[in-house]
Amino acid sequence: MIYENISLKKFNTFGLNVRADRMVTFKIEENAIYFFRQHKSSGQRCLILGQGSNLLFTSDFHGIIIHPEMGGITLEGKKGDEVIVSAGAGEVWDKLVESTVNNGMGGLENLSLIPGLVGASPVQNIGAYGAEVRNTIEKVRAISIEDGSIREFTNQECNFGYRDSIFRGELKGKYLITRVYFKLSTKPKLCLEYGSLKEEISKLGSTSLGNVRKTVIRTRQSKLPDPVQIGNAGSFFKNPVVTDSVVNKLKEEFPKIPVFKDAAGGMKLAAGWLIEQCGWKGKRVGDAGVHERQALVLVNHGNATGQELFELSEQIRNSVLEKFGINLEREVEVVSAT
Ligand SMILES: Cc1cc2nc3c(=O)[nH]c(=O)nc-3n(C[C@H](O)[C@H](O)[C@H](O)COP(=O)(O)OP(=O)(O)OC[C@H]3O[C@@H](n4cnc5c(N)ncnc54)[C@H](O)[C@@H]3O)c2cc1C
Repeated sequence: MIYENISLKKFNTFGLNVRADRMVTFKIEENAIYFFRQHKSSGQRCLILGQGSNLLFTSDFHGIIIHPEMGGITLEGKKGDEVIVSAGAGEVWDKLVESTVNNGMGGLENLSLIPGLVGASPVQNIGAYGAEVRNTIEKVRAISIEDGSIREFTNQECNFGYRDSIFRGELKGKYLITRVYFKLSTKPKLCLEYGSLKEEISKLGSTSLGNVRKTVIRTRQSKLPDPVQIGNAGSFFKNPVVTDSVVNKLKEEFPKIPVFKDAAGGMKLAAGWLIEQCGWKGKRVGDAGVHERQALVLVNHGNATGQELFELSEQIRNSVLEKFGINLEREVEVVSAT
């Protein structure tokens, strides 16, 4: 389907009322391949958009929005305890998690209730509660926007990192992901080491997949603002990865600074804590604000523009740089006019 001069208000979780010149949706790969081959010579700017839960539009978008609607959750194969499940890029992420958990397949349960579509999950290697999607991805199927050719990326070729992958790096905006293949297990090793997860699950009686999901959902709902109630895109900044010497130096001046180890064994600082220490928690500049319970989340109290939210994020970055000498990197992607 093709839509002209379309409002993106329902396609971004900040609820920003921006417009795009055109949006093209695809339910099957063949249509996308045909479109990209035709489009090759037009030179128009393209942006792939899922649910817009990790984007900040600072203005109207002049170009073509590509919105994947490829659906279907398929059991591809089973070998011993191992199962391969694939899902179309247009499936809602949490619907996939729910379906795998209900069918006794483990691997995605800690990633329950993350907003967005399946196609975006490898892009920033979504992660939560000690798990990252890269640990389950077998391969990613995608179409080149430049020439319509199909390519399958192995897990290694995806170059996954903390909230990062080849699709956010050197191949940014070059491939439309159409299907993701996950390697799951019917005898999963549960990942319960994060925060008080283990303790909370034990209150439910058993550490089943279903109870992990239930606990993660409850915890998320109590901590994170729901974009339906108040516009936001989850964590606005990444937790900074730092060296031991930076940690030691900061600890001298700020003995209470929280430091934790990331999955790769590196040291991470809590961006939310740094922001809170700069006095931003709960602050509001017009309708752009910092959430009152979670300083890592910027919110739209109603009529903030993307530019106002961007400017607020710059002020926050500047004050964290000034106080701690730490350069905060945005997790949310800023989409500007050009
Ligand atoms: C309340 C809230 C909580 C959140 N919690 C978490 C969390 O715990 N962990 C976490 O990792 N993230 C979290 N997020 C961020 C967000 O949910 C994820 O990044 C999600 O994967 C984005 O999905 P989307 O469909 O909305 O993608 P979009 O925001 O639409 O797009 C994100 C990026 O992916 C690209 N993209 C999207 N689809 C495709 C595709 N099919 N092919 C190629 N590129 C594509 C886009 O071009 C863009 O660069 C949260 C967001 C919110 C609002």
